[in-house]
Amino acid sequence: MSPQGTGSTAGQQGAGWLPVPDSSLGPVIPERGYLVEEIRDGLYWVTEGMYQCAFMVTGHGVIAIDAPPSIGDRVTKAIRSVTDEPVTHVVYSHSHGDHIGTTDQFSDDALRIGHADTKKWLDRLRDPRRKPPDIVFDDSYTLEVGSQTLRLDYRGGNHALGNIFIHAPRQRALMIVDVFYPGWVPFAGLGLCRDIPGFVDHHDYALEYDFDTLISGHLTRLGRREDVETQREYVTDLRREALRALADVDQVPSWQYVHNVYGMFTNHFNRIASQVAEELLPKWKGRLAGVDFFIHNHSFIMLEALRVDWNAEPFVVLPPPSLIVEED
Ligand SMILES: [Zn+2]
Repeated sequence: MSPQGTGSTAGQQGAGWLPVPDSSLGPVIPERGYLVEEIRDGLYWVTEGMYQCAFMVTGHGVIAIDAPPSIGDRVTKAIRSVTDEPVTHVVYSHSHGDHIGTTDQFSDDALRIGHADTKKWLDRLRDPRRKPPDIVFDDSYTLEVGSQTLRLDYRGGNHALGNIFIHAPRQRALMIVDVFYPGWVPFAGLGLCRDIPGFVDHHDYALEYDFDTLISGHLTRLGRREDVETQREYVTDLRREALRALADVDQVPSWQYVHNVYGMFTNHFNRIASQVAEELLPKWKGRLAGVDFFIHNHSFIMLEALRVDWNAEPFVVLPPPSLIVEED
């Protein structure tokens, strides 16, 4: 796989944003609109350059893992390009439509497997394109089909309830979707994350697995252990600098907006995010793509997690009544 970029503007600067580092680029996507590539021993990944899914050829049928609408029926085309075996099992990484929203391309007879929270959510949404799982589990499930084994583990909240680790031990590959972003900072909201402390912990959980290939569900290329370690460093930096800025940035100048409490919070948090960005941008630009897009947003999200999840001090408070000036 050579890092040649996925489009004509890849690696170039556009619209005033920092260029995408070469180390963040992925393989060229063929004209047919998707890439299918064997990782090892019957495990394949499929991408159109923005989303990723996977499948395993077992000798007794295919295990499909996700089918994002952005790739659509090209998932089946990719499977058919390497095997005639029917799809007998479908593993859901999590419930989100942008990753499993076209799993209806697989036969209804194929067994769906997912976390109990994924079933709860899909039962509620009643989306005919996302059949609720037939096999559910709370903590772990080992799927053995033909010659292949997948270990599915849930380690608690992260990006979404029920978002699981999918480990292929023989292939030394790990898949977890919407948590890690190889070569890039996470998407907005630290990857639209439901549980920031859980997300932070998932970096360590991932590194407990024996793997050298990471399928992250997104972006330009496959990941490696180093990508998890790099993102852990970014998130650690973010948390430390947000905590420092929370202590450093004086609340008093923001008190002038007290008559609109949203204005007071927004002003204070913007000043904190600006300090975090000033500290971290010089270190991370050129290392992770998209840091200039999302550093302010990530600072805000981390700051909110520090306040509401970790109960970090100093607390954000209203000014004493004697300092409140009546507006005209
Ligand atoms: Zn998701």
